[in-house]
Amino acid sequence: MEQGSKLVIRNIGLILSGKLEEPILDGDCVVAVDGKTVAVGYEKDIDSENSDTVVDAKGVALSPGLIDSHVHPVIGDYTPRQQQLNWIDSCLHGGVTCMISAGEVHAPGRPKDIVGLKAMAIASQRWYENFRPSGVKVLAGAPVLEEGMEEQDFKDLADAGVTLLGEVGLGSVKAGETAQQMVKWARKYGIQSTIHTGGPSIPGSGLIDKDVVLEADADIIGHINGGHTALPDDQITCLCESCQRGIEIVHNGNERAGLLAMRTAFEIGQSERIILGTDSPAGSGVQPLGILRMIAMLSSLGDVPPEIAFCFATGNTARMRELDCGTIEVGKSADYILIDKAQHAPGKDMLESIHQGNLPGVGMTIIDGIIRSARSRNTPPATTLPEVAD
Ligand SMILES: [Zn+2]
Repeated sequence: MEQGSKLVIRNIGLILSGKLEEPILDGDCVVAVDGKTVAVGYEKDIDSENSDTVVDAKGVALSPGLIDSHVHPVIGDYTPRQQQLNWIDSCLHGGVTCMISAGEVHAPGRPKDIVGLKAMAIASQRWYENFRPSGVKVLAGAPVLEEGMEEQDFKDLADAGVTLLGEVGLGSVKAGETAQQMVKWARKYGIQSTIHTGGPSIPGSGLIDKDVVLEADADIIGHINGGHTALPDDQITCLCESCQRGIEIVHNGNERAGLLAMRTAFEIGQSERIILGTDSPAGSGVQPLGILRMIAMLSSLGDVPPEIAFCFATGNTARMRELDCGTIEVGKSADYILIDKAQHAPGKDMLESIHQGNLPGVGMTIIDGIIRSARSRNTPPATTLPEVAD
């Protein structure tokens, strides 16, 4: 965004905050300057003059852009996994404005020697930092742990700008003890970790059960509902109850196990740990609407208010992942989506229609205060669309 440029979104019908403690905010207007939110409230109380862009929300809802906590990008907007182009742009049309790599594991010929895997992680981090497909923030460069890595390797990675580990367990490190040591080294140098949970995803990957997950102690219990094969129920509840790490539920997993994990988190009073991902691209494909589908699934089958389910895919993820987005809050990135009840959806309003299991329609996406897409080509059509005012 150009220096000093100002975006005003007026006539908002509903502001979803992304924060569990106050999921719906009072107000009808949001203002962003230089890509950051500077005001949230009622237009009459806000300085909305001298703007460069005005969006008339026409009464639809504003939410923080959705965050996909678990993707497997490789390069640009292409995935070799399913030979698909523009999959990230498709996800933007499903309301996703930020993605976090759980490892660039689908790279053909992925190096497994230590210098090679470090080089690829650093290169991946750079090419997604330098190129955002359709504006989507892709946090990538997530090396897959292999046997023989030493503390110096983690320091080298961190010094070179790597901030994430790929799913522990996808490489040759599968034992809890080794994983624990490497996760500790990563953490020491500010690198976040996640672990594959459950049965093997594809030929060549292996089982990671609750004992390995607990021993490794990664920051995120990656796809606690399996990717796709879930652990037995008692192991899932044990994982929720025995540690404080992120409870990541993915689209490319077992839905029943996802509901179990979510209910367990609520039972122990720790819903702030629930975060959502797609785990795509994967064998199950790319799911452009995957995060919206997770919100609708958990809200309807799990009977959770939709405004709370949105927090799983926004503020919760931002907090656990230490991101500058995911909430409608002064000082945070102006990453927004404007959404409305889908045409002809049952329910008196958008929230009720989601609670009944329907997807909302995305009418506009905004990243860093810049409009990135208008009416979604992928969601069911929104009843009302926002408009850019003159
Ligand atoms: Zn996995």
